[in-house]
Amino acid sequence: QSTHCASNSLISMAFNQLNSCRSSQHWLNLHFPTVVADSNADKLSHFEKAYTTVPSELGVDVEEEGLLRTPLRAAKAMQFLTKGYEETIQDILNDDIDLFSLCEHHLLPFFGKAHIAYFPKHTFLFLFVFFRIVEIYSRRLQVQERLTKQIASAIAEAFEPAGVAVVIEAVLMCMVMRGEQEMNTSTVTSVMLGSFNDNAETRKEFLALTMQK
Ligand SMILES: [Zn+2]
Repeated sequence: QSTHCASNSLISMAFNQLNSCRSSQHWLNLHFPTVVADSNADKLSHFEKAYTTVPSELGVDVEEEGLLRTPLRAAKAMQFLTKGYEETIQDILNDDIDLFSLCEHHLLPFFGKAHIAYFPKHTFLFLFVFFRIVEIYSRRLQVQERLTKQIASAIAEAFEPAGVAVVIEAVLMCMVMRGEQEMNTSTVTSVMLGSFNDNAETRKEFLALTMQK
């Protein structure tokens, strides 16, 4: 019971620091792919329409080959250059990280995604920190279990968060190429430290949300 309360207060501390009024579910799972995709497509066609007026206002020949797709290209460029409006800090903290490594037993690749979540105590970490940590340990001869532990330990030791969770889903080519595993089957390993380890609910929630993606 007391562990549960302690973790809850850590969770609310993390929320306050994030200055966010979202629920814990949102904090852990901030991907809204379908909604974003729909609104992006709408926005793109509105931008394209708006840009259609620019070449004609300039009085240039809009039927010229180089200008035919200019409104669409300009709309896409504008959408990309202003994507900061669509993104939040929470999004990048919860992004998946691609990883590529080499199995030390067979010297064959394994690759997949690392899902990382943490509750900060002192410092907030940004995605590039996680990218670099994942890269440092995956660009070695590895086994997936050890890689998962090393990433979690590195984050725990360097930044002393209240809790850290690392889940790696990977396809092992040494298994696939020798017929021991299907190409679309991934092996999942996880390491939970601190508040993720102490609180079964938090752990379950993170794992469930990670596996949904
Ligand atoms: Zn292997």
